[in-house]
Amino acid sequence: MNVQHFVLSFFLILVYNKLMVKKMQEEKKKTIAIIGGGASGLLCSILIKKALKDVSVVVFERQARIGKKILQTGNGKCNLSNQNIHWNCYNTWGVDGVLQQFSFKEFSEVFSDLGVWLTTDSEGRIYPYSYRAQTVLDALVREIEELGIEVITDITISEIKALDDFSIYATDFRLYHADYVIMATGGLAGIGASPSQESYDILKSLGHSILPLSSGLCALKTKEKTKSISGLRMKVKASIWAGEHQETSSGEVLFKEDGLSGIVIFDLSRFYQKKKHCTIELDFFPTYTVEEIEQKLSLRPLKEALLGCLPKMLVQDVLSRLKGNTLKEVSSLLKHYTYTIVDSYGFLHAQITLGGVPLEEVNPFTLESLYVPKMYIIGEALDVDGKCGGYNLHFAWASAYVAGKNIVEKIKKGEKR
Ligand SMILES: Cc1cc2nc3c(=O)[nH]c(=O)nc-3n(C[C@H](O)[C@H](O)[C@H](O)COP(=O)(O)OP(=O)(O)OC[C@H]3O[C@@H](n4cnc5c(N)ncnc54)[C@H](O)[C@@H]3O)c2cc1C
Repeated sequence: MNVQHFVLSFFLILVYNKLMVKKMQEEKKKTIAIIGGGASGLLCSILIKKALKDVSVVVFERQARIGKKILQTGNGKCNLSNQNIHWNCYNTWGVDGVLQQFSFKEFSEVFSDLGVWLTTDSEGRIYPYSYRAQTVLDALVREIEELGIEVITDITISEIKALDDFSIYATDFRLYHADYVIMATGGLAGIGASPSQESYDILKSLGHSILPLSSGLCALKTKEKTKSISGLRMKVKASIWAGEHQETSSGEVLFKEDGLSGIVIFDLSRFYQKKKHCTIELDFFPTYTVEEIEQKLSLRPLKEALLGCLPKMLVQDVLSRLKGNTLKEVSSLLKHYTYTIVDSYGFLHAQITLGGVPLEEVNPFTLESLYVPKMYIIGEALDVDGKCGGYNLHFAWASAYVAGKNIVEKIKKGEKR
């Protein structure tokens, strides 16, 4: 063999090897790492693995068990969606790109595939037919086991580096690799959520911003004393004033020892801002005008008239608030029963976290990061919050669905990094 032949053969072998390595890399089983084994992460893992049997899906969960928060939802009944899903039930219209792809049809198909029967109450709230959150978690876990999805618990992911693939570091120095990463790390709200900044730090280190975090869907502490009426529940129309901003909602208020709770307060708490002067006004008689109340109260001595329309324990509270003794003042007070908000009860007692990664930093139709290709951010880690009634879990499912669908499409098309 002369020198020319030798060089040519060497060159051909080199090219062949390169091609083989490339082919092997392309054929290598793709790995999808899901950080967070909550509602969004678990559903996303199932949808991907169902569509692509030959990929490896790994769920990393910092707690000892997956889906712990699901069991707390809806007082253990899991209000998992609502019939009236619309972007205007959330803090931003930006969610519409996700909601439109996951209508009631897709939602019910997903849960029917999981074998979970559904039922809807008179207010459009959707629950598992068993009214047990455990039914939902059991179905997710069963599917995960049947599909062979790997679940690693008691592991906190602390750093992710996006190079040729993703290097995923855990706090105990374990290192993993993946082709796709889904950040399904949720927020700081709820008992046992083990609040930690790690996931937000990861997102920041990868170029994302984090909008200020605060507790939402929670009770609010008031300056005015509520101890004497604590435990009382009433149907009211309530308005929150946070600086110039006003929001109104109707429903049940529950008076606590040192503040206000109940669904109507939870809904309004999304608009509470610590830095702004904030008040909540309760209207005990939303269907009456001040004049109508005045007229009705005028028919009897004041205390007797109040006892005819308010719970006994509230009457004393009302009387103690009166400065003068005119019927106009009482009637107006009953429609503007004002509380000054001094604080919220905090993340531990909240259902959701307000703030997180702004939707503007992800593709609104796929939830892929605009800064890190092949990384997706879903669920509560995003700055998306909805009102009480199944809207937050619905977004968790919906965001899992669109991100999962997009990853499946990409892998099927054989997209390269
Ligand atoms: C008491 C309570 C009641 C609620 N009731 C309802 C209801 O009835 N209806 C409704 O719509 N919504 C309800 N919610 C809100 C709903 O539970 C959340 O919106 C939803 O669970 C968000 O899902 P997620 O997957 O984004 O986050 P999560 O469910 O919070 O899951 C995130 C997971 O990621 C894990 N994790 C975080 N960081 C890391 C890390 N670095 N490494 C590894 N793992 C990590 C966490 O441990 C957690 O398990 C309720 C919330 C609470 C607290």
